[in-house]
Amino acid sequence: MPEVVFGVDQTRSMRDQSVPGHNRWHPDIPPAVTVRPGSEFRVECREWTDGQIGNNDSANDVRDVDLDRCHMLSGPIAVEGAEPGDLLVVDILDLGPVPQQTGDVAGQGWGYTGIFAKANGGGFLTDRYPDAYKAIWDFHGQRATSRHLPGVGFTGITHPGLFGTAPSADLLARWNVRERALIATDPDRVPALALPPLESGTLGGTAGGEVLGRIARDGARTVPPRENGGNHDIKNFTRGTRVFYPVHRAGALFSGGDLHFSQGDGEITFCGAIEMGGFIDLHVDLIKGGMETYGVTTNPVFLPGNVEPRYSEFVSFVGVSVDHDTDTNLYNDATVAYRNACLNAIEYLTKFGYSGAQAYLLLGAAPIEGRVSGVVDIPNACCSLYLPTAIFDFDLRPSASGPTVADRGRCAVSS
Ligand code: ZN
Repeated sequence: MPEVVFGVDQTRSMRDQSVPGHNRWHPDIPPAVTVRPGSEFRVECREWTDGQIGNNDSANDVRDVDLDRCHMLSGPIAVEGAEPGDLLVVDILDLGPVPQQTGDVAGQGWGYTGIFAKANGGGFLTDRYPDAYKAIWDFHGQRATSRHLPGVGFTGITHPGLFGTAPSADLLARWNVRERALIATDPDRVPALALPPLESGTLGGTAGGEVLGRIARDGARTVPPRENGGNHDIKNFTRGTRVFYPVHRAGALFSGGDLHFSQGDGEITFCGAIEMGGFIDLHVDLIKGGMETYGVTTNPVFLPGNVEPRYSEFVSFVGVSVDHDTDTNLYNDATVAYRNACLNAIEYLTKFGYSGAQAYLLLGAAPIEGRVSGVVDIPNACCSLYLPTAIFDFDLRPSASGPTVADRGRCAVSS
């Protein structure tokens, strides 16, 4: 096992660790540790809400989750010699749930998928599903099953939802200007269009005093992916992946967490992956001046890992950019098209006995493939969703004899 350079005691909040992490992006968050290019090390992570969600049959904790303190990140890790303009090379050597532990914290033998309430977070289908729901998943080695989704089991494509480098002061200021401009177009929208800096709940690593005040006032929230990497939620960032992150600040100041046992493309319920705490083993290196050399200016590039379950048969659903409720055409809108593909998949799954919320949870967590199929056939963008048949213990394919209807139990709901 490589040296642990950022340790987490899973019985304590991130705030109470000997070296706490952080939950905002800011160039002044002090490094927790410094590593050399070429080194291998382990980083331990809290689950992204810092342990607010329990292994139980009520979704009240998802409904009431305090998002001000999310995402709880481990780091920053300074890399010796890293300078703005370099590419930080990060190899994901291994990752998984909290090793050798079972317990009350997500990652200790179990994880969860949540559908956020429209009034507190929302999600991709929040107008259809405005309430909170939850599914608990039990880990069996590489495999996950859920008492809230009987009839389904699959191998997890484990990956980190969120890693990134610190922004420069200039880059952070640009984020704040452009995100505030978006918010200003509809400031009262629920859910919000974007999240501005928020002092409440800010954790700035070991910073205190005036530095912590700056981090709280100006630090960027961690929800979106941006020019530093950030919350990509790309399921293919699995073991064996090599990521090339832009470096915007001396030392790179690399941080992350939000580990996922599994996730479907799009992570559509917002908290749609199987969320867990755990560990990640990394190797880092530098390509000096690599941003200019390879034209990597706005976002990382990566070589996906090749460790993942192989599925060869799918039932696939199609969506186009039409609002079918009002028969309104949208112009080449891939978001609307993918939303329709998801709704079509949910409608289909309900014919086998699942509730709509169960099907929505399943599409967030299972290794589904989401594809942009066509964006030139005006006016309708076309997206498709590939649902692997092998994750079901019954035949999911359409046939003349009709769907296998059964009692599929229920997911956790809020009171
Ligand atoms: Zn996550």
